[in-house]
Amino acid sequence: MSAPGPVSVDAAAVVDLLKTLVGIPSVNPSVAAGGAGEGAIARCLAGACERLGLTVALEEVAPGRPNVIAVLPGADPSRGRSLLLNGHTDTVGAGAMEAPFSPSLRGDRLYGRGVFDMKCGLAAMVEAVAALVRAGLRPRGDVVLTFAADEEHASLGTAAIARTRRADAAIVTEPTQLRICIAHKGFAWVMLRTTGRAAHGSDHAAGIDAIAHMGRVLSALERFDREVLARRSHPLLGRPSLHASLISGGEGPSTYPPSCELGVERRTLPGETPEGVRAEFDAILDRLRREDPRFQAAAELVIARPGLEVDRGTPIVRALHAALERHVTPSPEYVGQAAWFDAALLAEAGIPAVIFGPSGAGWHAAVEYADLPSVAACAQVLAQVILDFCGTAPA
Ligand SMILES: [Zn+2]
Repeated sequence: MSAPGPVSVDAAAVVDLLKTLVGIPSVNPSVAAGGAGEGAIARCLAGACERLGLTVALEEVAPGRPNVIAVLPGADPSRGRSLLLNGHTDTVGAGAMEAPFSPSLRGDRLYGRGVFDMKCGLAAMVEAVAALVRAGLRPRGDVVLTFAADEEHASLGTAAIARTRRADAAIVTEPTQLRICIAHKGFAWVMLRTTGRAAHGSDHAAGIDAIAHMGRVLSALERFDREVLARRSHPLLGRPSLHASLISGGEGPSTYPPSCELGVERRTLPGETPEGVRAEFDAILDRLRREDPRFQAAAELVIARPGLEVDRGTPIVRALHAALERHVTPSPEYVGQAAWFDAALLAEAGIPAVIFGPSGAGWHAAVEYADLPSVAACAQVLAQVILDFCGTAPA
């Protein structure tokens, strides 16, 4: 490993690129009907990367919705590690935000939809590589910038990247206030269905009330959350949880309901598997069946996304720590985040992944801003990590 310098980021260029990105609407059309999608912002990022001399490809994950893959080929890939940087280009809808796509500068803050989540991370990725190119430094290993579509809905973009790209490590540049995020929760959606027997409301002997039976499920789940999940704990993420999210059933006031469906979301800790979650639900239903032979129910796992946990001793985490120490703070902080991120998809594909990005506030909120000095600092740290992790060769 070598750590040459100086590599200086161009703070004005980061701000210019960030303003340009915020000015291009990229609302995810699966989240908000009529959203512009990722086509225009992808072309803008592709152009910026082409001007730096990178090898650029647009890869559609849905019609008109491309990922951008921009590669700075390593000077000596057999002797250097490859690094993948990842960020999403889509945003949620503008909601009640004023002038969402006209970025406005107030002091050190830039406001607009997507400026924090996460166009600030995209601008930092591009500027990190731009700084290396300007300094005439060429990493030994490949640097792969990936700008992914659809993170705010089904993560089609990073799912495709995880299937097709390999790297020795990945950094997802979602905002972390310049802290190293080494863990986040996963989630699973489970659909439960109770089966009763339809009958006239007066026919007590024939009817079996599927909604009342779902009431038993609900109270068992509440108790499981309180008595079992509340006792599990992760040092950075706290406890796992579950909540009822959707319910339906019944046909009319004078009919015993023949079925009831309940959707439940379970937020998991790293290491809690879909099979384990499924087994917990099955055990709860088994117990209710033993208590009442007329009770009939089934659970189906609809979707499960894993949590993320990466060891502090992993080379990419150590490289980030060292770069933060050098450029930002003598004591870099480690954090976990409750929400789910694309990083887990990369980790699941065997690429050690960590989350690191700029500061600001307003995830999906009516007021959203990025702290501009932190965006430049993020770019500086990323440039340093590329040099240290991938190694450098004379340009
Ligand atoms: Zn995001």
